[in-house]
Amino acid sequence: MTGETLGDPSKAVISKPWLPKGCNYCFTGGKAVIFVTGLCDDGCFYCPVSRERLGRDVFYVNEEKIDFGMLEMEIERSGASGASITGGDPLAVPGRTVSVIKRLKRSFGQEFHIHLYTSGRYANKGILWELYSAGLDEIRFHPTRKHLLGKIRQAARIDGWSVGVEVPVAPGFESWLKSIIEFADSAGAGFVNLNELEVSPANIYELEARGYKPSRKKPVVEGAFEAGLRLVRWAREKGFKVNVHLCPATYKDAVQTRNRFIATGRLDLKPYEVLTPEGTVKYGVLRSCKVPPSGEYEYIGDEYRGLPDIEKIRITASQHGCLGFVEEAHPTRARKPVIESVQVYP
Ligand code: SF4
Repeated sequence: MTGETLGDPSKAVISKPWLPKGCNYCFTGGKAVIFVTGLCDDGCFYCPVSRERLGRDVFYVNEEKIDFGMLEMEIERSGASGASITGGDPLAVPGRTVSVIKRLKRSFGQEFHIHLYTSGRYANKGILWELYSAGLDEIRFHPTRKHLLGKIRQAARIDGWSVGVEVPVAPGFESWLKSIIEFADSAGAGFVNLNELEVSPANIYELEARGYKPSRKKPVVEGAFEAGLRLVRWAREKGFKVNVHLCPATYKDAVQTRNRFIATGRLDLKPYEVLTPEGTVKYGVLRSCKVPPSGEYEYIGDEYRGLPDIEKIRITASQHGCLGFVEEAHPTRARKPVIESVQVYP
């Protein structure tokens, strides 16, 4: 990736041709994340999906919980040039998933790249064909049980479809992952992505109960990266055709998510907000004012927002009897969750 492409989805280029096309879009922050449902019957002990979402039939685009009808509007706000469809298991609601794919292709054109994640539990020939016909560009399986491996072969039989595997890696997963890689290779899949197993509030207790420890440096399972490296080397020695790739968790957070925030921030920045290099937005806030401040402050909810100029916020807050803050948030519609809220007056 060149510096030029950072956070600019319009410049989503194939800079790493050995990787799946969907990954190249993610690097530039060019993929919107569509969480199509939280429904899933796989019950993985390591599931990182928050309990606000898992098992609930909810619909999110990026960090926004929205009505299905607002799909295109939210994609436009992020300036995405593609989307990844995830969950839960998107195939638990096949009608909605197919409808999302059709709408995105109709609204943003055939070039709008879409990939989807599924365990394969609900996949069958009919559903796979429907997804392909609707315009799904790439399908990534996360097989959770041996009998689901056959779904990879069913998908790979569809000519011209990009079919691969994306699975978490951690110590103790190696022998299962070796059998997945061998199967994916024999089934004609194009790639196997190994993701360092992430530790989140949703899975920490289950992981610790099984003896896993969080790494001291980042929110992943200790030893996950090394386990992934061993698998990549093993696959290379075996001479498999399938491309086995290790995706470090830091890359996801520090590059993909940051670039997506920067891209959204650029398109959806209020005149008084400042976009930071980390993809967050900063602004000043006046609350509980005795006298309303002038028109240069925007009234939102029950507060006034303006430039994050500490001196100016202090002076205005003292003149109008307000509490003054400087806040930093992700570029979500509501500018929440707040990363930092610093009271600067009184
Ligand atoms: S298949 Fe995915 S969403 Fe479902 S339980 Fe497993 S990790 Fe969670």
